[in-house]
Amino acid sequence: MDFEQLKKILELERARGFDDKAVFGGLDRLLGRWTGELPHGASIPHYSHLNNKQREDWINTILGLSNAPDNAAPLPSDTRKENTINPVILHSPITTVKGISSKLSARFEKLGVTTIRDMLYFFPRRHIDYSKVRNISQLELGVEQTVIGVIWQATQKTIGRRIKATEAIIGDETGNIKIVWFNQPYLVKKLITNKRLAVSGKVRQFMNQKQFESPEYELLESDDLIHTGRLIPVYPLTEGLNARTVRRIMKDVVERWAPALSDFLPLEVRKRAALLNLSDAISQSHYPDSELSKDDARRRLAFDELFLIQLGVLAKKREWQDQQQGYSFTIESSYLEKFLSILPYDLTLSQKRVLDEILNDLKCSKPMSRLLQGDVGSGKTVVALAAMIMTVANGYQAAFMAPTEILAEQHFNNICNLLSGSEEAENGIIRTFSKLLPVPITVSLLTGSTKKNERKDIYNGLTDGSINIAVGTHALIQKDIDFKHLGLAIVDEQHRFGVMQRAELRQKGISPHLLVMSATPIPRTLALTIYGDLDISVIDTLPPGRQKILTKLIGSEQRSKAFEFVRKQIISGHQAFIICPLIEESEAIDAKAAVTEYQRLSSEVFPEFNVGLLHGRLSSAEKEDIMRQFRAGDLHILVSTSVVEVGIDVPNATVMLVEGADRFGLSQLHQFRGRVGRGSEKSYCILLSEKPSLEAKERLEVMEKTDDGFALAEEDLRLRGAGEFFGTRQSGLPDLRMAKLSDRELLELARKEAIRLFDDDPNLTKHEHKLLALEVNKLWQNVGELS
Ligand code: ADP
Ligand code: MG
Repeated sequence: MDFEQLKKILELERARGFDDKAVFGGLDRLLGRWTGELPHGASIPHYSHLNNKQREDWINTILGLSNAPDNAAPLPSDTRKENTINPVILHSPITTVKGISSKLSARFEKLGVTTIRDMLYFFPRRHIDYSKVRNISQLELGVEQTVIGVIWQATQKTIGRRIKATEAIIGDETGNIKIVWFNQPYLVKKLITNKRLAVSGKVRQFMNQKQFESPEYELLESDDLIHTGRLIPVYPLTEGLNARTVRRIMKDVVERWAPALSDFLPLEVRKRAALLNLSDAISQSHYPDSELSKDDARRRLAFDELFLIQLGVLAKKREWQDQQQGYSFTIESSYLEKFLSILPYDLTLSQKRVLDEILNDLKCSKPMSRLLQGDVGSGKTVVALAAMIMTVANGYQAAFMAPTEILAEQHFNNICNLLSGSEEAENGIIRTFSKLLPVPITVSLLTGSTKKNERKDIYNGLTDGSINIAVGTHALIQKDIDFKHLGLAIVDEQHRFGVMQRAELRQKGISPHLLVMSATPIPRTLALTIYGDLDISVIDTLPPGRQKILTKLIGSEQRSKAFEFVRKQIISGHQAFIICPLIEESEAIDAKAAVTEYQRLSSEVFPEFNVGLLHGRLSSAEKEDIMRQFRAGDLHILVSTSVVEVGIDVPNATVMLVEGADRFGLSQLHQFRGRVGRGSEKSYCILLSEKPSLEAKERLEVMEKTDDGFALAEEDLRLRGAGEFFGTRQSGLPDLRMAKLSDRELLELARKEAIRLFDDDPNLTKHEHKLLALEVNKLWQNVGELS
């Protein structure tokens, strides 16, 4: 059926006075098969459920007869409320909602809710199932269930000296039951005899009698339950906002406004992916009719998040690849072989494979956009260096950017060491190696603390092209730096860089090839989400002969033994890390706890050693200074919060002791562990956990068994979800409220649909994609602001 046909039928229906008889069996049968896009963003209602006025409005909208503006709200697909709401209203502050005072709205604002639309997207953390209404005689102990009864009496009692209890007896045709609430004295006035009351909660046995204790309750005026008798949303709360108030407000808002949402998802996508329409999804995510519809709602809203992300990353990838011309390099194998021959080892098969992938990209005129993943110590640096050497051999410059000064220095030294087999001319932080290639390779180190005159030399060298490998920090992407012809940009430990910084680095060349490196193994689902604009290479084996780090999980009773072990290691000339537990509430609190722990360790436990402290509240100069002292061996022990995570290399450190290990994710623990075992000495990772839950214990035991970062990451993702896995702010990833990154199938589906849509209408300029374009922009705009 094409639109012309539909139009004819709707015109007929209009002429008949909207009696749902224009086609046999009613319009729903016909509309159910409609797969096209309706004009004006209209969605398909249950026509038979609409009243005459709604039928008229809907048909008028589709026929373009209404005087409503183009972006008028589509009709709701259900009939709960009469609705002619302009979507602009959704962006009004919540004080426009009846019953929300400015005081209340300030509290909502604390939860990030300022507009009506925010409210619709203010999802409950979970639902409690009170949908099973029982007779009083059927109540079972210990199960969450609901009864509805008539109030016989309600009284106020004082138990002991202080506790006030409200007691009520309600009855239905099968019996009576007692209900007790503690310290809610105002309640007794509400519980008026003969009124009907719904009560949801667990039943307990008390003095041989069943009773409800502090259950959810609701006085019944209508059949519409808010607090009991159904799947009840549990919202995040804040001071001054109690659960009952929030539920009541949310119920009103959702009922009234959810139907006003225009569905930005093209109908075809919705159909193919079998998704609820937006209004229903939002309603059902708050007050679901059943577990099933709750899941459907989540699926739709999670799809939205993943789909919008995919559209965004695809756009970026295209912008990068299609619109920009890259440099196509020649890979002269004799140069490559010469470089490989000066290395003190052979590349592993994994390293060779990813190097091939990278070099193939460099040959193409499309700029490379690749993520190189490899566990700590898998040997990414040398692969990166090989790519840089080939860049230089082609007469271009390469930039290698690290997130901290220390790491930049470390890379600089590593690179110089690797190249030192070829003759060198040394000049501090500008060093030249002239034996390897026909052109001299000049490597420089540029960071925030590079001295002024050296900085000037480096700037000049980059501008005139005499420096062809630039290692550094963010200092490399300052506005006043001008590369002569940047051909390859490498970003190490990517997840510490925002999306914007990636983009800035790219702009330093016309369109340099881009290689992003990460030591945090990222499961494929997550990689596709965060780095959907990148191709992915993985180094999946470690170089041979690597010592396994002995990992042991211990309880607090073994703490002093562990400290003795640390002492022995230090006496025999090594160094140790001690990681403080994560408190999570804030960096400030973590820092404070670390200071306390540091004082205790340095004055009581290890008074004979030099102990240093590292935490997130220090300035980056202070942090760098501490790290330098530790690396130089001036400090024996480094007490640190989780800030130590990134790839710092202290070969002499042999012990990593993690306090409160159960607080950390497995991937993070794995990163900590990767800080030791960098030298030739046997190294140890001690995970200390006071009283872990059974679950936490099992999780930590995985650390003892495996040193495969990818396996740990998958496990982490499965157990803790993506939010924990990666701070979203850090990764430049938009907020995921509904999607879980373990939603592998949904993600693949979203990606497939995004690619399809993108092929059809890459700039989202088609009329039916107008709303979608707005959503994509909104999402990525927020991300841009974050990073
Ligand atoms: P990461 O991937 O964590 O950045 P690095 O590049 O720092 O790892 O390499 C870790 C260590 O492994 C370095 O000391 C490096 O010299 C060494 N290494 C790298 N590749 C090999 C190899 N193929 N064989 C032996 N050792 C290697
Ligand atoms: Mg590294």
